[in-house]
Amino acid sequence: MRFADILGHQKPLAIINAYIQGSGFSGGFIFSGPEGIGKRMVAKMVAQKLNCTAQTDKPCGLCDSCRKIENSGHPDLHIIENGEAQIKIEDIRGILREASFKPYEGAMKVFIIDNAHKLNTESANSLLKILEEPPKSTLIILITHKPQNIIKTVLSRCKVVKFAPLVRAELEDFLIKDHSLDKLSAHFLAYYAEGRLGLALKLKDSLQLQEKNKIFNSFVLSAKPLDRNLMGQTKEQLRFSLNILASWFRDLYLLKAGLPDKEIIHLDRREDLLKLIPKFSFKELDNIMAAISESTLYLERNINSKLLLHNLGAQLWKA
Ligand SMILES: [Zn+2]
Repeated sequence: MRFADILGHQKPLAIINAYIQGSGFSGGFIFSGPEGIGKRMVAKMVAQKLNCTAQTDKPCGLCDSCRKIENSGHPDLHIIENGEAQIKIEDIRGILREASFKPYEGAMKVFIIDNAHKLNTESANSLLKILEEPPKSTLIILITHKPQNIIKTVLSRCKVVKFAPLVRAELEDFLIKDHSLDKLSAHFLAYYAEGRLGLALKLKDSLQLQEKNKIFNSFVLSAKPLDRNLMGQTKEQLRFSLNILASWFRDLYLLKAGLPDKEIIHLDRREDLLKLIPKFSFKELDNIMAAISESTLYLERNINSKLLLHNLGAQLWKA
């Protein structure tokens, strides 16, 4: 994914870009905003952008450096994530020590501290040392959904970047206004792509939107779930079909749990989904979603697709 593709994060991205343009902004960012909207993803993308070896269009997402960062396996990327546990002074000492070395293979060392509101006073004060005099080629990104819990001295040493929610709804609007899509199609693309503009646009151009409904009709509604159409699909098509299937069952789960309609991906098939709800228990839906994700793994390992679909079909229609 490209930097520019993250619609809804354009403001933060512009701020970040302005800071890191040219040679090395050292110091700290605080990424603040609700949970689950991609702050961490953007933080890793910043690390990629700074260390990408492509000539243009950084981060490319494909070079060695980008891949290693994506998999959190780059020697110049350090991520502290303690969940809801406190961030201890030892963690920060580790950062101070690491930051005293030059980058091993990239251009910049990047330290990401997740749930930074869990810094206690001692560890926050220790972190101040590096924020006040950041070593060259070092960037620290604090991530938090509770910026009010971060001590003021740390806040004042960092550039605070605010991330806003409602990415998918914004993307839906954007697709309607800028790409003249009808509401249901725009809704599907925005929610299926989880708010990612690049992916939504790619799907819009590459796929007849009714394709997904064919999969639904043949696989879920028909008495013979293993439609021959699916059998003949290429690996790429099958991957899409499995993703679509997963999203149907995810929708069923959400509807059954009573979440508002607007949260589901396949709003255009709401009526059919509602009819299916009584057929499945939560446990069965769990099992089915697990079976689909297992099938996706098998697909990547090039397991015979006929066998794969047969097994999945057996799982789906056990109920
Ligand atoms: Zn790259």
